[in-house]
Amino acid sequence: VKISVLANQVAGEHRTAITPSIVARYTKLGLSTVVESGAGSAAGFLDEAYAAQGASIVDRKEALAQADVLVTVRPPVPADLMGVRKGTKLIGGLAPFADPARMAAYAELGVEAMALELLPRTTRAQAMDILSSQANLAGYHAVARATTELNRCLPMMTTAAGSIAAAKAFVMGVGVAGLQAIATARRLGAVVSATDVRPETREQIMSLGAKPIFEEIQDGDQLTAAVGGYAGEMSEAYRQRQAALVSGHIAQQDMVITTALIPGRPAPRLISDAQIASMKPGSVVVDLAAESGGNVEGAIAGEMVMRHGVKIIGLVDGPSQVAVDASNLFARNCYNFIEAYWDKSERRLAMPTDDALIEAVTLTRHGEIVHPRFVQAAA
Ligand code: NAD
Repeated sequence: VKISVLANQVAGEHRTAITPSIVARYTKLGLSTVVESGAGSAAGFLDEAYAAQGASIVDRKEALAQADVLVTVRPPVPADLMGVRKGTKLIGGLAPFADPARMAAYAELGVEAMALELLPRTTRAQAMDILSSQANLAGYHAVARATTELNRCLPMMTTAAGSIAAAKAFVMGVGVAGLQAIATARRLGAVVSATDVRPETREQIMSLGAKPIFEEIQDGDQLTAAVGGYAGEMSEAYRQRQAALVSGHIAQQDMVITTALIPGRPAPRLISDAQIASMKPGSVVVDLAAESGGNVEGAIAGEMVMRHGVKIIGLVDGPSQVAVDASNLFARNCYNFIEAYWDKSERRLAMPTDDALIEAVTLTRHGEIVHPRFVQAAA
């Protein structure tokens, strides 16, 4: 069985789904690795490093023709898959909600597309979870980027020329990215606070040494319980009180990082233009949801814009900016997924269609879109 990785065609994307150290793992498992020349170069993994681990370095045509499994960080455009064999598995980051036409094209090409973004948030799937591994790095990079754009220092300093007060950082949305943003801002010495719609994040915020910004919950506020790690619904009255609290808080911040996402839906709007105007000039807001519609009014994906003297950064390439670590974790996620379905005695992949994880991630099979969430959308 051969596993292939193509060179990335997406501008600004530096990650790769196979790193040299993972080649050795695949080899040990019993798969051979085929790498399109240059596939890892943007992350600093040169062809020689792959070859030294036993990978064959080939051109695009060969990488496609030989692949039983193709792993990828980003969804390849269908034209880049011309020449792929029917039945080849395409596994990795496929952004299934972004482009329904692309999914139909994968079906037509006969590839079995598996979007690891759709893995459930379960213990079994944790080691394969590309959203978590990359969100963690996005949270880290959001703070690193904001720090370089801010016109102030983060830590408190006492110097002979006087002292510097610590900067204030506020994190909105305390999932995987938000937790790492809190931890990073704390390491750099900022005074950190955070909020989320899930009340259980309060404890997590405090355990990282940051201040939770939450209105007290009163009777009748909680309408539905949280399910599967995602937020439940709160009453309108609670939301209004919470919004007022957060609004006053934003005005005092030097740095705000927003990370709120709702899977398969546009990101919730957390900061309005009026709230941006309430901030000090020179403050920085980083919107990690800019690609999904944005948490911040005026944020543009991939750009930094100035509004009311505040820098708003629609950060989309955080993981790509730390491509070595991001690739290693991503490649490890893909490896863990494949390893879980590797039949050692028969030396082949066995992915039963009724397995919960396989069902959750499979978009296309035998020339058709099979995922229940997308069958109708495509029809
Ligand atoms: P996410 O990327 O879907 O969303 C980020 C955060 O934004 C979440 O905490 C969400 O509650 C919050 N949010 C949504 N709407 C908001 C709003 N209007 N205002 C403020 N915040 C808002 O979340 P995630 O990083 O994927 O994590 C979600 C949960 O799932 C976390 O508890 C995480 O620990 C858990 N998780 C579990 C596993 C696993 O067990 N395998 C894997 C990953 C994440």
